[in-house]
Amino acid sequence: MDRRAFSKLSAFTLVASRLPAQTPSHPAQQSPTGAPTLAKPVGYCPVGLGTISDIFMRACAETPNARVTGLVSGHAQEKAPRYQREFNIPNSSVYNYEDYDKIRDNPAIDAVYIGLPNSMHCEYTVRAAEAGKHVLCEKPMAISSAECRKMIDACRSHNVKLMIAYRIHYDPTWQHIRDLARNGSIGEIQGFQGGFYGNKREGEWRLDRKLAGGGSLLDLGIYPLNTIRWIAGEEPSTYAAQVSTKLKGPRFASVEESVEFNFKFPSGTLASSGSSYGEAGPAYVNICGTDGYIQVQPAFFYNGLKFTGQTKNGPVNGANDTQGPYQFVYEADHFAACIRNNTTPLTPGEEGLADMLAMEAIYRAAGAPIA
Ligand code: NAD
Repeated sequence: MDRRAFSKLSAFTLVASRLPAQTPSHPAQQSPTGAPTLAKPVGYCPVGLGTISDIFMRACAETPNARVTGLVSGHAQEKAPRYQREFNIPNSSVYNYEDYDKIRDNPAIDAVYIGLPNSMHCEYTVRAAEAGKHVLCEKPMAISSAECRKMIDACRSHNVKLMIAYRIHYDPTWQHIRDLARNGSIGEIQGFQGGFYGNKREGEWRLDRKLAGGGSLLDLGIYPLNTIRWIAGEEPSTYAAQVSTKLKGPRFASVEESVEFNFKFPSGTLASSGSSYGEAGPAYVNICGTDGYIQVQPAFFYNGLKFTGQTKNGPVNGANDTQGPYQFVYEADHFAACIRNNTTPLTPGEEGLADMLAMEAIYRAAGAPIA
């Protein structure tokens, strides 16, 4: 993680630590997202109690539509007690990776939230589906398109919902940017540029191919890739790409340092983007039309989203000054409503599969296939 991302995360953690603890006697009355309050909140059970699950649990505390009702951890004795106290979770709702399947017998758990290393997403999604629980799975959905298909099939055959946690889609500022790009105000979209760059330290699971499935593309490059696909509203048809590891040594022994890729949509729109684990760089997307453009930077951090641009009607700009895990609150609300109202998530498993197919095509085009 680069220094900017780290300081943002630190600031976020500071804010998050001030959020009120969720207790049954003091639930939030109304979601800050404005989502209607459901008759019964959805009980979420995070799987893997790392960075992202911590953030998601704090998001659940901000909405009356979600509750943390279970925990799954390989270090249940060390990590769970703190969350049990904070979210009022009994010992009987704490599981490890071996007895995970017993969530089947816990009616307080409606859905799991998969916050595990990428290579574990498929197994823990399939096991949740077999236990009859809905699945909110972090990105990247898995480490191959074959795994993504297995997850979709398992959730379909067990009649549970599957959503991939693409938080950008649920952020109202991003939805506004997408509308601006698509409503003709910059003319016809001709091209995109983007990227998400940072540094990862040796020893992180993200640098271990067995756990990560690939390099920075699956972790960071997926953000501009997914956002560009979402705004374009079509699927890439051709790809070109390069990977490179300029920094020698054990840090990049199993995954590449950097990747730059470009692709073309059937309409003729071009996109170029990149990501890295060894470059201190920006997180951004440019959307270029015949008559204007929008530049989004920073684009992918938890807070601080900003955009500027020129449209047919003059300059535009905007910033998101929200604090805390707000994009995750939108996600938690959305999936809870899908479960209670029996609707399909805006980012179902098929969205994760589409990204995975694109990432496989990018690595193939670079001569470094991952699957
Ligand atoms: P993390 O390292 O902080 O947490 C991973 C968790 O998995 C830990 O609790 C760890 O104990 C557990 N785990 C189980 N088996 C493990 C193993 N063999 N090796 C390492 N950890 C193991 O990671 P994270 O940053 O929370 O990322 C988890 C997932 O969430 C990843 O798929 C990542 O891409 C995704 N993520 C999404 C966002 C987002 O903004 N949507 C941000 C960060 C991470």
